Amino acid sequence: MVSEKETYSFSKLNLFCTCPYAYKLRYINKVNGKTNAFAQYGTEVHSIMERYSKGVLTLFELVNTYDDEYKSAITEPFPEFFMDLATLYYNQGKEFLEQFQGYSEYEIMGVEQNFDIDLGEFIFTGIIDLVLKDKDNNLIILDYKSKSGFKSKKEQAEYARQLYLYSLYVKKKYGSYPSKLIFMMFRKQKRIEIDFNEKSLQEAIDWCKTVVKKINAATTLGDFGFPPVCEAFYCNNLCDGREHCDNREEENNK
Ligand code: SF4
Repeated sequence: MVSEKETYSFSKLNLFCTCPYAYKLRYINKVNGKTNAFAQYGTEVHSIMERYSKGVLTLFELVNTYDDEYKSAITEPFPEFFMDLATLYYNQGKEFLEQFQGYSEYEIMGVEQNFDIDLGEFIFTGIIDLVLKDKDNNLIILDYKSKSGFKSKKEQAEYARQLYLYSLYVKKKYGSYPSKLIFMMFRKQKRIEIDFNEKSLQEAIDWCKTVVKKINAATTLGDFGFPPVCEAFYCNNLCDGREHCDNREEENNK
């Protein structure tokens, strides 16, 4: 039977928190969004790592694949900045793949696992980059991020909600929660490891339910429920509804 319940991913919930108007453009108005170089870059490195983890590519093929595919995968320009972001990102991705040693110390349990979890009023959906098992049989969720790092512990905790929510599926499928959540910040070749705890899991579930309630309340208000929240760099470079948003100019003129 097809569920009547609304489905939310972490990025969908997060978009509402970032800019309710961007949420409305994408999920209610369903406008054709415009991608950006950062998103394309992240997708390409994810794709190479996915193919490695599935055994489609060997360690020795990662760098050549990156070089072969880069131009056709990253078609949007990086924004102008005080440094050459295009060269920087390209070099950092290449260096990561050159230095990457594989996951030989782990058993790979799942790659790009797509799941749905019923959270009562709604369905939570996600795709887990990697589920690993270490030699002590501890499960680990690993997520690739193209960010260079987190600005604060608070920001890290906000990002970790995604992996805590994913741990609900890991528990359902493998019988236990992961013991670690890992962000692989690949541009910096840095792993941020978080010891799993149930208090943070509950906080993530509560956050998720609160945002869904806010979205439902916003929907009853029509346009007033989805005000634009402008942050110049995000508006002009990252928001995929940017070509459909009149509020973007107002931000530029401030
Ligand atoms: S361009 Fe800015 S204000 Fe407009 S929808 Fe996107 S994030 Fe919101």
